[in-house]
Amino acid sequence: MITEEQLQERVAVMARQVVDLVGPQPILVSLLKGAFMFTADLLRELGRIGAKPHLDFMRVSSYGSGTVSSGQVEVLLDIKEDIRGKSVVVVDDILDTGNTLKAVSDLLKSKGASQVRSCMLLDKPARRTADVTPDIVGFEIPDAFVVGYGIDWDNRFRELPYVGVVKE
Ligand code: 5GP
Ligand code: MG
Repeated sequence: MITEEQLQERVAVMARQVVDLVGPQPILVSLLKGAFMFTADLLRELGRIGAKPHLDFMRVSSYGSGTVSSGQVEVLLDIKEDIRGKSVVVVDDILDTGNTLKAVSDLLKSKGASQVRSCMLLDKPARRTADVTPDIVGFEIPDAFVVGYGIDWDNRFRELPYVGVVKE
């Protein structure tokens, strides 16, 4: 769906958008595991343009089982940085229903962040149910199950340097 070259080109643009949004010392909160590769490339691009980013991670999972997103998330790993009064940027692989971003944003605001922005590699606007609007989006994609560039299917395919679609 999206080639390695397209990803690299777009991520460089997104790094500039992050700096335009929150300035040259952004605090990135990257959501494990899916966003790890995107985050690494974004961080490198931020460095290339002279930014001084901080990086922290969260890992969350949707409550309940199955594929239906429940709207609540369980925090499996929380950030360690003090974000009181700071602008933070949530970095994630895919914005789907929006439940994850909504819940994580609310959590970061409750920790005292002055503003919580978002930088999402992929956006599936057709599937949105939560009331969230991303600040920075890499690619709008149709409602298909994608893998690669850090994104898995049952822990497979994260290593692919491109974003692909799983066919039955
Ligand atoms: P949301 O809470 O917005 O519905 O969920 C977003 C999360 O769902 C993403 O961070 C990702 O973990 C997962 N997700 C949504 N679409 C896909 C997909 O096409 N492939 C994979 N592997 N995960 C997806
Ligand atoms: Mg995810």
